[in-house]
Amino acid sequence: MTQAVRHHQHFINNRTRPASGGQTIEVIDPSSGESLGTLARGTAADIDSAVCAARAAYEKVWRATSALERSRILYRWSQIVADHAEELARLECLDTGKPMRQARGDATALARYFEFYAGAADKLHGQTIPYQEGYTVLTIREPHGVTGHIVPWNYPMQIFGRSVGAALAAGNACVVKPAEDACLSLLRAAELAAEAGLPEGVLNIVTGLGTEAGAALAAHPGIDHVSFTGSTATGTLVAQAAAAHHCPVTLELGGKSPQLVFADADLEAALPVLVGAIIQNGGQTCSAGSRVLVEKSIAAEVTRQLAQRFSALVAGPGLQDLDLGPLISARQHQRVALLLEDGLATGARVAAEGSIAAQAPAGGFYQKPVLLAELPSEHRLITEEVFGPVLAVQSFQDEAEAVSLANATPYGLVAGVWTRDGGRQLRLARRIQSGQVFINNYGAGGGVELPFGGVKHSGYGREKGFEALYGFTCLKTVAIHHG
Ligand code: NAD
Repeated sequence: MTQAVRHHQHFINNRTRPASGGQTIEVIDPSSGESLGTLARGTAADIDSAVCAARAAYEKVWRATSALERSRILYRWSQIVADHAEELARLECLDTGKPMRQARGDATALARYFEFYAGAADKLHGQTIPYQEGYTVLTIREPHGVTGHIVPWNYPMQIFGRSVGAALAAGNACVVKPAEDACLSLLRAAELAAEAGLPEGVLNIVTGLGTEAGAALAAHPGIDHVSFTGSTATGTLVAQAAAAHHCPVTLELGGKSPQLVFADADLEAALPVLVGAIIQNGGQTCSAGSRVLVEKSIAAEVTRQLAQRFSALVAGPGLQDLDLGPLISARQHQRVALLLEDGLATGARVAAEGSIAAQAPAGGFYQKPVLLAELPSEHRLITEEVFGPVLAVQSFQDEAEAVSLANATPYGLVAGVWTRDGGRQLRLARRIQSGQVFINNYGAGGGVELPFGGVKHSGYGREKGFEALYGFTCLKTVAIHHG
């Protein structure tokens, strides 16, 4: 399907601006492989302009803007985003290939993030501390100043919303570097922020390659905090670059999240969730439930029922709104194919696979959903993030083995536990190493209120919920000696 081709520019000081070097990057529709236009290919010079704009806005306007006024602007932005949800969803669907209903969900979440942080902006306060006689000691939560946000391509709107919403509510001015593979919705959302009355320079977006604009943002000495979501390898580079100027970093990295299914589980409730947790966004979700750990006595039956469901899944163009869309790019498509090929050559076995819609354009980056039969815990497809629609099954004998398998990867982002045993629910919630544990559900609907982040190689720091506001502020202690 041919779409109107557009040439997108940076968004700095509430105005669009071409790349200083004049270079561009082609925007590809993953559903067809066709061009959707171009993006500005930002350089260190563009990042510097954006950081200067943000610094000036922070010093001259934003730091003196009351929490109430910040809240009102964010609230207006949330309403304008909600009014443009269909337009934003369509952009996200074209740019990422995700099914339209998921893109609509992401646009709704974007509005909800701004609404939530609008409500929180004027409720972030410090404390007084009982201290020695003659002193009054208080703490003040202050914004960092200028925050950098490096956003991946899998959920541009959601990740932008959660990180920029919280940073602005806390009083920071922002510079955002979206992913080169998907940033159209964010450029449009930034225009809507200007409509909502966000002062110029408070939110700036520089598009470009990670190794150019992204690296320049992480290394820029004018950035006071970096929020990064993406791969573990890139997160390490970002943290190293930020460390050179002692800049705090929040890292939201990958995962290899398990769902543990015990013999007493409500299978009727669990099965669609087990499938949905890996199929959502074509498996390109940091918190994808990419491993199912099943108690041995029901492993054969659960695998049979999962196989039935996988065989019925169909991948196709985002606008056709099938079970899943294409992968984001030719590079990601090839990466997943190579991982699978290697996995199959080293002992993995396909238990079932879905299909690609007959009418899907040949140039799209489609990957059939794959269910892998039981694999040993050291296998690459058990320990490494595939970031595609690939679900691996493992089995366990008892609770102790279930915990040990759940914790046996370098990651620790999310886990699901399916059991009716209340004691076991609580034991596992404590013993599983991950930032979130869901009991008899997975993701709890992804609520913006729920703090999110990882342990181990899944990263550190928390975004979402009220907790994010602590990360986007620093605490100052003021001790007054009044005698
Ligand atoms: P990536 O981590 O390289 O990219 C994420 C963001 O970082 C993008 O905006 C990118 O431009 C930027 N970036 C890249 N190199 C950078 C650098 N040196 N300095 C600063 N910023 C840089 O991810 P990718 O290459 O797009 O995908 C590769 C793998 O990452 C995926 O297969 C998947 O495993 C993982 N991933 C995870 C998430 C997540 O939400 N946890 C999201 C996207 C990708």
